Parts: sequence; C-alpha cells; structure tokens
Amino acid sequence: MHFNILTLFPEMFPGSLELSLAGKALERGAWGYECVNIRDFGHGVHKTVDDTPYGGGAGMVMRADIIEQALLSVKTPGRKIYLSPRGKPLTQAKVKELAACDEITLLCGRYEGVDQRILDAHNFEEISIGDYVLSGGEPAALILMDACIRLLPGVMGNEATPDEESFSSGLLEYPHYTRPAVWEAANGQTYDVPEVLQSGNHAKIKSWREERSLELTKKIRPDLLS
Ligand code: SAM
Repeated sequence: MHFNILTLFPEMFPGSLELSLAGKALERGAWGYECVNIRDFGHGVHKTVDDTPYGGGAGMVMRADIIEQALLSVKTPGRKIYLSPRGKPLTQAKVKELAACDEITLLCGRYEGVDQRILDAHNFEEISIGDYVLSGGEPAALILMDACIRLLPGVMGNEATPDEESFSSGLLEYPHYTRPAVWEAANGQTYDVPEVLQSGNHAKIKSWREERSLELTKKIRPDLLS
C-alpha cells in the first residue's frame, strides 16, 4: 500500500509510524509513502500557497491552482482524500475499505482549508477523524494511515485479530486482564480478575465477553447499537 501525502509539513511524516509494528512493516516494504511539499509549487519569493477568501472573513485559503500542481506531480494518485472536519467520519468500516487500496493520496489542509474547486475538479473524498477542529490535516492523515497499515496482511503478526476488536462486530471490545490475578492498587484497594476468565471454560468466557461488550456499548456508545 502506498500513500502520497500533499502537505506543507513533510517533516511530520512518517512520525510515529516509523516505530513499532508500522515501522517494521515500512522497513520491509509492506507500505510506503511519499510526501509532496505543496510549498514547492508556491508563487513568488515567499512561495505563497494561500490567499484571502472571496466573500471576506478571517483566515487564508490554500489555492486550488497550487494544490493542483502538487497533485499532478504524483504519478499514480489512486484514491484521493481530503482530510477535513466536515468530511464523512473515519469508521472502522471505512478503514477496512481504504486498507484494500493500493494507492491513496491524502491532501492535508492548513489555515481555513482549501479552495473548494480543487476538491470538485479532482473528486476528492472528504474524511474527518472526529467532530473537532485540528490546526492541520497532517495528524489526521497519520491517524488514517495508522488505522489502515495495521490491517495490512502480516503487520499485526500474532497480535490482536482485527475481527475481534472494537467496532468490527459493531460493538465495543470487552475488558482485558493479565497477571497478577490479584492486584493491590496504590489506593489500597484489591482488584481481582473475574473468575470466569481463569476457569478455562471457553464457552463461558466467550459469553462473558459478549455480555461485557454489549453492556459497555450500551453504557458508553449507545449510538452504535442503533
Ligand atoms: N475552517 C475549517 C472548518 O471550519 O471546517 C477548519 C480548517 S482547519 C483549521 C485546517 C485543516 O485541518 C483542514 O483543512 C483539514 O485538512 C484539517 N482538519 C481539521 N480538523 C480535522 C478533522 N476533524 N478531521 C480531518 N482533518 C481535519
């Protein structure tokens, strides 16, 4: 899988994706990336990439003509995504869909965002990582990339199987426990591991986990049930 990243801050990549499982997968070529610095296509001595918004208002808007030059420098852009707070939410289902793509181009906005015409002219899909506003699309791109990379074949190794994780079945995941079986916390209280998990009875463990998943989802994310 290959990511092309159109950004004003190429130094933000690969960021944390250089570490751990994603980093190892990068080293062995399971995924790759290339940053295109939009600034390289800027105008004038200052390499300006933005201008004031038509209609007035605060802030600056990234120019369509300059972003287009950056985009056209990518040989095979594949699926084109603009990270944007007004985009469709990034869900696990969407991540699965994207992880099946060979090539994705991610446009990271800054300032007030980008001129609408670049999105219209090149059919960018808008994706949001949540209902809050970041100062730039780069952290959102890194999150989208992380979520996709961990689904690539062989990346997670023996770690969690994606099908059992939160959202895959439509529910949140059950709680996890590990050693010690009895733990005294700094607050003086003793916390035990639920007995059923130590019983070795796989059927009982499975149904305990299903019940906890449902209970947690009802409590924390009832919207997922509807
Ligand atoms: N004026 C925009 C608005 O109100 O929708 C916000 C612009 S924001 C300061 C600058 C850039 O950050 C955006 O162009 C987008 O690329 C990125 N961004 C901000 N919040 C995001 C989110 N929740 N998901 C994805 N990208 C986001």
